[in-house]
Amino acid sequence: MHLINADLHCHSDVSDGTLTPERLAERAHRNGVELWALTDHDEVGGQRRARDAARAQGLDYLTGTEISVTFAGKTVHIVGLGFDADDAQLNQGLRATRGGRELRARDMAAGLARVGIPGAYEGALGYVGNPELISRTHFARHLVEIGHCADMSEVFRRYLTEGKPGFVEHRWATLGDAVRWVTQAGGVAVIAHPGRYGFTPNEEFALFTEFRGHGGRGVEVVTGSHTVAEYGKYADMALEFDLLASRGSDFHSPEESRTDLGRLPDLPGKLTPVWEALEHRVHRA
Ligand code: AMP
Ligand code: MN
Ligand code: MN
Ligand code: MN
Repeated sequence: MHLINADLHCHSDVSDGTLTPERLAERAHRNGVELWALTDHDEVGGQRRARDAARAQGLDYLTGTEISVTFAGKTVHIVGLGFDADDAQLNQGLRATRGGRELRARDMAAGLARVGIPGAYEGALGYVGNPELISRTHFARHLVEIGHCADMSEVFRRYLTEGKPGFVEHRWATLGDAVRWVTQAGGVAVIAHPGRYGFTPNEEFALFTEFRGHGGRGVEVVTGSHTVAEYGKYADMALEFDLLASRGSDFHSPEESRTDLGRLPDLPGKLTPVWEALEHRVHRA
């Protein structure tokens, strides 16, 4: 159970990935994944399709989502795994979290128009698979397509991050709400890619401590968003905070993602994988 190829973080076109849940399931299977979770941002609309597609591929499946949270003035992502996707409170919380995206997108487009990039809202919409889930990624694809930037990371650097013309401050879910929605729906909450937030050590300590206090139980250690040094750092943090460890590529697209589904190093052996605590929640193929 420890060394299975689990990939518990990726995105379909139900959020900001480019592949359908069915194509992701095929790709995961082809790449040797044995336990899979689709974790679309703030959305569980693809869960039934993902579970059915996983079964068709002979792939074990855990439900998933990645919830946007505001903590210490920054956006933090909380992955939920193994919950009941029909849970009313979870669905209502996610719907409320998605609800701000439309206005935010219009404000982003207004900011871009002020620096000479008109029509970005309509352009981004051309990449959106789910009208409730317009994200910065869709704007970035549009800006690359029209030749403003060479690649996605240049768009984020120049236009879509704090202080840049297309960035809009936004208040997402609270940490406590996100953890409770997942936990009360029978799942396990996991801090996604902690190495990505740029927190000071004090802020990071506060995040882990408060997350534990709300009932959060896991942390991503091996993710496409971490460096090798961060695998070690967050393995130590998992032990220090007595957290289960997760592993996931954060795959979005064959053209854009550096890490493909299932192509990650194993978790360090001293850790307890999050899937060991979720055996009873796995949908067996
Ligand atoms: P949003 O939820 O609309 O704020 O969009 C967040 C998404 O943008 C993340 O989940 C990533 O898929 C993407 N993203 C954030 N930063 C970058 C970056 N530097 N390069 C490429 N994609 C990024
Ligand atoms: Mn994303
Ligand atoms: Mn994320
Ligand atoms: Mn993600």
